[in-house]
Amino acid sequence: MKWYKLSIEDVLNKLTAQTTGLTKQEREVRLKNNGPNKIEEKEQVKLWRKIAKHFTDLLMIVLILAAVLKFATGEWVEGGIIFLVVIVNGLVGYWQERKAEESLDGLRQMMGQEATVLNEGQPIKLDAEELVEGDIVLLKAGDVIPADLRLIEVHDLTVEESILTGESEAVEKIVAPIEREALAGDQLNMAFSGTLVQTGSARGLVVETGDATEIGKINHALQAIQAQETPLVKKMHQLNKQIFRGILALILFLLFFTSFRYGMDWNLMFSASIALIVAMIPEGLPAVLTMILSMGVKEMADENAIIKGMPAVETLGSMTVICSDKTGTLTKNEMTVQAVVTEELSVVKEIMNNCQELKTRDEQKIETIHGNPTELALLKYVVEEEQQLKPVVAKIPFSSRYKYMATMHTDGEEQVIFVKGAPEVLLEKADVTNEEKVNWEKQGLDLASKGQRVLGFGYKKGFLTELTHESLSNLTFVGLAGIIDPPKESAVRAIEQAQQAGISVKMITGDHKATAQAISEQIGLKHTSIILEGADIDEMSDEELAETVGVVDVYARTTPEHKLRIVTALQKQEEVVGMTGDGVNDAPALKQADIGIAMGIKGSEVSKQAADMVLADDNFFTIVKAVKEGRRIFDNLQKTINFFLPTALAQGLIVILAMLMNQPLPLTPIQILWVNMVTTITLSYAIGFEQASRDTMTRPPRDAKMGILSGYSFFRIVYVSLLIMIPAYFLSMRFEGTALQQTILLQSIVLGQAVYMINCREKFDPAINRRFFENKFLFISLGLLFILQLGVVFLPLGQQLIGTTALNLAQQLLILGNALLLFLIVELEKRISKEIFKRKEKTAIRYQND
Ligand code: ADP
Ligand code: MG
Repeated sequence: MKWYKLSIEDVLNKLTAQTTGLTKQEREVRLKNNGPNKIEEKEQVKLWRKIAKHFTDLLMIVLILAAVLKFATGEWVEGGIIFLVVIVNGLVGYWQERKAEESLDGLRQMMGQEATVLNEGQPIKLDAEELVEGDIVLLKAGDVIPADLRLIEVHDLTVEESILTGESEAVEKIVAPIEREALAGDQLNMAFSGTLVQTGSARGLVVETGDATEIGKINHALQAIQAQETPLVKKMHQLNKQIFRGILALILFLLFFTSFRYGMDWNLMFSASIALIVAMIPEGLPAVLTMILSMGVKEMADENAIIKGMPAVETLGSMTVICSDKTGTLTKNEMTVQAVVTEELSVVKEIMNNCQELKTRDEQKIETIHGNPTELALLKYVVEEEQQLKPVVAKIPFSSRYKYMATMHTDGEEQVIFVKGAPEVLLEKADVTNEEKVNWEKQGLDLASKGQRVLGFGYKKGFLTELTHESLSNLTFVGLAGIIDPPKESAVRAIEQAQQAGISVKMITGDHKATAQAISEQIGLKHTSIILEGADIDEMSDEELAETVGVVDVYARTTPEHKLRIVTALQKQEEVVGMTGDGVNDAPALKQADIGIAMGIKGSEVSKQAADMVLADDNFFTIVKAVKEGRRIFDNLQKTINFFLPTALAQGLIVILAMLMNQPLPLTPIQILWVNMVTTITLSYAIGFEQASRDTMTRPPRDAKMGILSGYSFFRIVYVSLLIMIPAYFLSMRFEGTALQQTILLQSIVLGQAVYMINCREKFDPAINRRFFENKFLFISLGLLFILQLGVVFLPLGQQLIGTTALNLAQQLLILGNALLLFLIVELEKRISKEIFKRKEKTAIRYQND
């Protein structure tokens, strides 16, 4: 349907709709008939494909081939075990991926869009998915258009349609029908789903919903969240590939070496190579890491921090600066007029009553009015006076950019313009002597230094025809009002925590310098003596700004454009920046920031789309909680890696050593495969569920550029793998009989891995502490491992398949003793390393200070 060609009446008739909107019943009927306003996801990937994906990577193919060859040579048990390893690994991979997808799907629902529609003439808010054809939608700056609309009323409406047209310049919209054929970009009387309202306001009639919208036709689901790989997971994948190559080289070397030196047993060589590959490649690791991340996303959402993708979780943990808005984020946004300075109180009250956007009819009770807290405070101040509203002829809405608002009214035969806004802006436009100006400024400063938000009031009477920024001059300035907006207690605590965690907090506000300074002291910011104003920033070059931002924590009289420059300047100084924002104009800064943070309640749809994280409660404290969670998750990722790699190497070492020395393999390939599988399905998960360490928020942010394997990790990997292997080997040699030796060795390795996992709970602190019992998954995984091992050691079937034999109590105690020794040595090493690291840090700091 070419809606843009029709007149408004025709469109209304075609959809049997009215300019007052639909009734509730009518909407329900239409919703039932036409379905929700939702874009269907691109064709779902078939279940079998999703599962198959996990069986087709290189490692899996190698294993499947090996199993087939084993079957071909009649080695059923070995072939079967290899197959089992393949199936377990594949299914576990699939299951992990599904978990990750589920938690991200949940988020998509939480980020549902809202729309304001007319319900029998009254504006109501509803879920954008409930829109139907014939609904009248109200649009304002910052909205994302919720369906395809034929516009029926516009006030300076401009819309940015780049997702449809690729054109980033906003388009000015009209209501008149268009005669000629036009593509979406030229249909100026239409507003399309998914595009962004830049300025102005409008009403539009819903003509298409869901898949029938322009955006639906190109099937581009909005806010689609994908399980992107985070930098760490990417690095892990790369590392796996390197390990794979390394092992292939090693196998080749072993082939040559053993065949030249000792002569060749092809069959043994083959089995050993397979066991080596399976044992040494931490193939399950990337999936475990992804699962930890996705669980973190879900946990953050439960804490009101809605993250849009897994990379953000990682970045949060390395954040070094948070730049926050003041009003509503750090302060309560509960404003009350505290003081009015004027000689004409009734005029000031008249301006307060008329120059505002909230109240439209005299009968409206103040309790029923919601919206802009500044204006609400002014209305509350005048309410008893029962002033009459004057009819509005024209309006300049408030914007943080020019910092005032003006309304024009009829006043008998003449017109009157009321203006309120930042005092210095109004004084510029007012008819005042220099002396009066200085006096007003002094009065304003008095209020501001008490932390009050200060507004000035002015008017102009006469035969006035137009209301533009230029025509506002020669105002009569009548007074000032000071409004208090107390800081949130929770914000004060959160700022303290952030600072302890080595994250600096900066406040960016449109308010006056003195107000900003007073508030910043109340909430405990660090550098409050120097304050940078928007005008100062304008005079600085990017380089100058970059040199200054480090030592300035308070920014006053700024516009959203300044935020972008501040973010960029901080990033130049290698900071990892979180930036809050709520308006349309904040979007560029939010995108530029490492973590753009939007407000779920008061924020515009546009800012929510641009952000990486949405605060469901608009609370600064939630940011700090998210940082803590981000750090916990990253710690757990690192701890998991620290656990995985040494155990993988330990499993591989047995094979390598045996082959180099031409000894029979101390464990059969089947046993090695078993050890690998049993730890993969139990131990590998536990650390992901660890609570935050005690020092999570008392240490500085991690260096975002650090690789996964430090020199220290190498040291860990080597000594721990040797510690697991060598004592276990010598213990087993003290007994007679192959099956017994193998069982002891197998049990020792498994137990060694289990206690080393407990070591890995804390990076440097003692592993056994007060929070030891908080991670119940640790005990579930240990319990599961215990049961599986019981089965292998004591059940006849297990013994037969794996080639083990029962152990007596003395043997078990020896194995346990070995494991405890391993545990103690690692704990000791952690203590010593902690000391060494601390010393190094101190020296580094001393050097810095010199
Ligand atoms: P912030 O959001 O950081 O508190 P704003 O940009 O909203 O800052 O406000 C900047 C200044 O603009 C305020 O100090 C006040 O003087 C003025 N102001 C704020 N809201 C209004 C409004 N609704 N109408 C007129 N002036 C306003
Ligand atoms: Mg504001």
